[in-house]
Amino acid sequence: MTISREVQPLPLDDEPIRKALEDAHLPSLLPALAQITGDLSLLREDLFPETVLLTDPQGGLSEEAQAEARALALRTLGEWRDAGSVVAPPPSLADVRRMMDFLIGEHVSDEYLPLLLEELAFADKDARAPEWSKNAINADRSMRVAIVGAGMSGILAAHRLQQAGIEYTVIEKNEDVGGTWFENTYPGARVDSSNHAYSYSFMQKFDWPYHHSPQEVLLEYFRDCAEAFDIRDNIRFNTEVIDVVYDDERAVWAVRVRGADGAEETIEAEAVISAVGQLNRPKMPAIEGVGAFEGPSFHSARWDHDIDFAGKTVGVIGTGSSASQFIPHLSDRAGEVRIFQRTPNWYAPAPNYHERVADGFLWLATHVPTYAQWYRFWLFWAISDGFLPMVEVDDSWQPGDEVTGKLNGELRDLLAGSMRNYLKDRPDLIEKTLPDFPPASKRIVVDNGTWPKTLLKEHVHLVTEPIERITPRGVLTEDGEEHALDVLVYGTGFQASKFLTPMKVVGRNGADMHEQWDGDARAYLGITMPNFPNFFFLYGPNTNIVVNGSIVYFSECEVQYVLECLKFLLESGRQAIDCRTDVHDAYNERIDAGNLKRAWGVSNVPSWYKSDSGRVAQNWPFTLLEYWQQTKKMDPADYVLL
Ligand code: NAP
Repeated sequence: MTISREVQPLPLDDEPIRKALEDAHLPSLLPALAQITGDLSLLREDLFPETVLLTDPQGGLSEEAQAEARALALRTLGEWRDAGSVVAPPPSLADVRRMMDFLIGEHVSDEYLPLLLEELAFADKDARAPEWSKNAINADRSMRVAIVGAGMSGILAAHRLQQAGIEYTVIEKNEDVGGTWFENTYPGARVDSSNHAYSYSFMQKFDWPYHHSPQEVLLEYFRDCAEAFDIRDNIRFNTEVIDVVYDDERAVWAVRVRGADGAEETIEAEAVISAVGQLNRPKMPAIEGVGAFEGPSFHSARWDHDIDFAGKTVGVIGTGSSASQFIPHLSDRAGEVRIFQRTPNWYAPAPNYHERVADGFLWLATHVPTYAQWYRFWLFWAISDGFLPMVEVDDSWQPGDEVTGKLNGELRDLLAGSMRNYLKDRPDLIEKTLPDFPPASKRIVVDNGTWPKTLLKEHVHLVTEPIERITPRGVLTEDGEEHALDVLVYGTGFQASKFLTPMKVVGRNGADMHEQWDGDARAYLGITMPNFPNFFFLYGPNTNIVVNGSIVYFSECEVQYVLECLKFLLESGRQAIDCRTDVHDAYNERIDAGNLKRAWGVSNVPSWYKSDSGRVAQNWPFTLLEYWQQTKKMDPADYVLL
């Protein structure tokens, strides 16, 4: 178990404390000190952070103010230790509010407070754990749940069901948990949102080694969670779901599965939770000749670790988030790299993208109670709803405009300035890499300059000529050049809008899920859809977030809602709930209108955010707060009760 949530006693010697404070994140540290001592006068006006910006982690504090804050912290920690290291009683709501206001340098609006308290998850309190149990409500009722997938969402769902005493089975096609973190083992794979925020609110890890940890650390985290939650025995590994069929008479789902030995079996369940993710099934590009290349070729999510790239000419199709992570690594090994870029990307600077967490920060996180939680809160706020205006579409926007509004223009200037700076001696590369579409039309790639620096290497070639076809020898571009390759890597993404592919799901009265969607997946709250009673999606249609927040947060909201639905079934004695069509349709109209006010909704740039029809099937266009509010409680009036 590597999830350290233990806080060690402070040493008697002040020196290690003084040293650690050099790496302190001061806006988070002072509220932590105020909390453990109960002394709110530590939140001094002269030490108030002015901004919450990832690029300015000390909140704009001057060097003198930072030194003053460190001295204050040293004094406070010394006195607190000498008085016995007794943590003050939990602060009142008003005091928590003052600490929050301090940390973010502005007044937290009332409506955010309950959500933020959950996210903070102080001490051992798991604010989102169900406070009820199945047997206490209805011990006789059969309530079996089948969860498909043991990735981040599936593990979470299993944990919550276990807490509520509900019987469940997780069906996982891989041999282990972890989902995307199990499958994507390409070199350079790491989490591109900060891992202090990309983790369960109730299972925060205080000792992340990096700000954006590599794949193996994330995989270990999810393995450890599965272990800590004691859910592994309920997971059927190496087992794939073939189809899921609803029995109208009995209100039971039949989940047909195939094990590693090819044997099929049917698992019955009163409810099904799909936790298969959006980015799971690799997408091969619709290019003539895919499969014709005679050398080794593979998709980034199926990395071939047996290949020695030394001295080889390697071609890569795609420049999305995956390719932008593995190409720099390939360029360190291969003799030559040819990158085939169809559409350029915007790159957001993340200065600490490859940085280890500083020793002092780590020390404080593991020695000062609540410091790590306050830091997570700071991150949560820094990457939260405040970003949405930057991707908003102004009324003046016209198709073809390079920005969607004033703030989007400012974002564009920032991102373009950074890229121009790196490539200032190569106008040809600036020309090829600077998009002519608004930032956030498709996913912004996170980077700390590694991408442009890779492009500047002599043996790396950025090919923007469109691909005509793939040949036995390599890639033929439309200018007639055949790029001879030794290895071809597809960094071409996933079948994101084909939700639940290749599973077949048949609901009430024989309704086929994929036929009902007709290539355009929709759901109510991204969780339920008409004709599929007691069938719930996690990370379903329109629950992906583009610029605000962490996807773990969304899964926590979704699982909370699903648990509310199950509780309703137990309390009401109803067999099933089926989402009302009018509720579902009205909801989706609003979602569609919302997405049309965002850069990704109006732009015609290709992206996995859209289904083939061009509708945004993936993204949530509103605030985190709104999703939290909508999923907090289930309203039976939204459902046909069966
Ligand atoms: P992606 O963003 O969908 O990128 C696919 C790439 O392949 C694009 O450059 C695309 O070009 C290109 N492509 C697809 N079909 C093509 C064709 N027929 N001809 C030429 N080029 C073609 O996929 P991804 O990079 O795997 O990333 C998917 C998502 O996974 C990310 O957006 C992110 O949400 C997630 N991800 C997260 C992390 C992380 O947190 N660590 C890392 C990797 C991925 P176009 O742009 O022209 O379509």
